[in-house]
Amino acid sequence: MFRTLPKFEYFSPGTLEEALAFLRENGDRTRMLAGGTDLIPQMRWGEHRPEYVMSLGQAEGLDIMEFGEKTGLKLGAMCRIAQIEKSPLIKAHYPILSQAASVLGSKEIRNRATLGGNLCTAAPSADMPPSLLALEAKAVVATSKGERVVPLEEFFKGPKENCLGKDEILTRIEVPPVKPHSGGEYVKFGRRRAMEITMIGVAALLTLDPGDGSCTEARLALATAAPTPIRAKGAEKVLSGKEPDEEIISEAATIVVGECSPRSSWRTTEEYRKELIPVLVKRAIKRALEKVG
Ligand SMILES: Cc1cc2nc3c(=O)[nH]c(=O)nc-3n(C[C@H](O)[C@H](O)[C@H](O)COP(=O)(O)OP(=O)(O)OC[C@H]3O[C@@H](n4cnc5c(N)ncnc54)[C@H](O)[C@@H]3O)c2cc1C
Repeated sequence: MFRTLPKFEYFSPGTLEEALAFLRENGDRTRMLAGGTDLIPQMRWGEHRPEYVMSLGQAEGLDIMEFGEKTGLKLGAMCRIAQIEKSPLIKAHYPILSQAASVLGSKEIRNRATLGGNLCTAAPSADMPPSLLALEAKAVVATSKGERVVPLEEFFKGPKENCLGKDEILTRIEVPPVKPHSGGEYVKFGRRRAMEITMIGVAALLTLDPGDGSCTEARLALATAAPTPIRAKGAEKVLSGKEPDEEIISEAATIVVGECSPRSSWRTTEEYRKELIPVLVKRAIKRALEKVG
């Protein structure tokens, strides 16, 4: 059924300072607009009825994409998912990120949707958070008092709930450099290949000792496995310091299930998600190992 948008006033600041000043006065009556692929449908369905919609599209500096071998990657909140998917720089240094971006929605959605929107929506099923959690990314938030930096793990507070105050804007994500001899994989499971909301998503990032092949560092993160995107630190410990053979991988995959609290929804049941988790964790770990360079 077609629903019209509720009435709102539109504001498009040209600078971040202007945007912050507007939020200081009107934050509790305003929703920020990035690509609009979440916000506009939510407004149509009456989930949000903001008095003001403030576009971030013209505010300078929110679409940066910078990389340094020592400093890592800085990705502006307004970077489009398609930019992340296609960037040669990201493909070379953070292939797990371009892979996650490539399975989000459809080409049309990826051309509009932004990284900031994907994180701020804070959907448990969002496709970008698991890879970014595995990369130990940080969120940089602009406030009227300056900047604050939040580890991405602390950014998500609940389903559709993030840590931002009403007068705060996510400006960029900072991702540390990936260690040598690392490989990463994001596995998204759904009923079909495109335009599918993730039933379970698993990101695995493993670093191996080139001498003895043991796992020096393991990071696992999941989507739709809990009320927020999560790291599976118990399973990471199982992998760390050991040679990741079939037995260790199976042990880690079993432990992940205990760290998750998936729920039943119209898409599928809690029980089915619990069956899927170890299968997908094993798949992600094995593919990540194949990619260790
Ligand atoms: C058909 C369809 C398919 C989809 N498929 C997928 C999928 O497969 N995987 C997936 O993860 N998502 C999917 N989505 C959801 C959506 O496309 C993504 O979450 C997208 O990344 C949201 O980005 P956006 O720029 O469109 O956000 P918007 O809709 O503009 O904003 C989303 C929310 O974040 C807030 N916000 C945005 N930017 C900032 C900022 N910088 N600071 C503070 N708050 C901010 C907004 O106020 C709003 O509340 C799909 C959506 C549609 C319509």
